Amino acid sequence: MIRFDHVTKTYPRTHAHALKDVDFQIRKGEFVYIVGHSGAGKSTMLNLMMRRITPTEGVVSLSGQDLAGLPHRKLPYLRRAIGMVFQDHRLLPNLNALENLTFALRATGTRGDLEQRALQILRQVGLAHKRKAYPIELSMGEQQRVAIGRALVTNPPLLLCDEPTGNLDPDTSWEILELLNDLNIRGTTVMIATHSRELVDRLRRRTLVLRGGQLVEDRSDGGFSL
Ligand code: ADP
Ligand code: MG
Repeated sequence: MIRFDHVTKTYPRTHAHALKDVDFQIRKGEFVYIVGHSGAGKSTMLNLMMRRITPTEGVVSLSGQDLAGLPHRKLPYLRRAIGMVFQDHRLLPNLNALENLTFALRATGTRGDLEQRALQILRQVGLAHKRKAYPIELSMGEQQRVAIGRALVTNPPLLLCDEPTGNLDPDTSWEILELLNDLNIRGTTVMIATHSRELVDRLRRRTLVLRGGQLVEDRSDGGFSL
């Protein structure tokens, strides 16, 4: 599904290697952690998959398609096929939970009964009863659930999460991790970038370890040394 073929990324101005000769593949249906200290290159990796940036060398491909060759008019389709969750949930503060989801659907132009679809997803993330609540009225964990729901409304086969539990206490982090695991069991391919060893220890899954932009380990059992 995703392939990094000897990918190197240097940013203009700094010229330092954010990623260096990174090479791996992820199959449909996998659950994969990307771990590494701050600055190791985790977000760069996710941004390459979203085609927010392109590699300096090498190829990033999704379902066999080289993303660098994707014309601009096709980018909205790519972004619709990939759900994205951030550490700071980035919900719209003036919209309630349900509206945050329907807004995402409207932005992608999907037809059908938006509210029914949004409500069904809110139910799936366990927040149907809070559909009228505004972000400020929700706990951090609930806000993150809404953000995950928003990422899911377009039914993307791939969910990318950048430090999804970065602002959460351990118990709430675990609930969010369980939710992501449930989604994976139902068929969504899930990638989680995190610097948290606890998260990876709690639910052992394939783990890609980045150090200084280099992929230094690819472990199927979740064990690793940072
Ligand atoms: P992580 O998400 O693991 O903390 P990043 O991918 O954000 O790491 O960053 C990897 C490296 O690339 C860091 O050294 C960072 O300073 C650098 N970097 C990230 N984004 C930019 C940018 N837009 N311009 C210049 N350097 C950047
Ligand atoms: Mg990051």
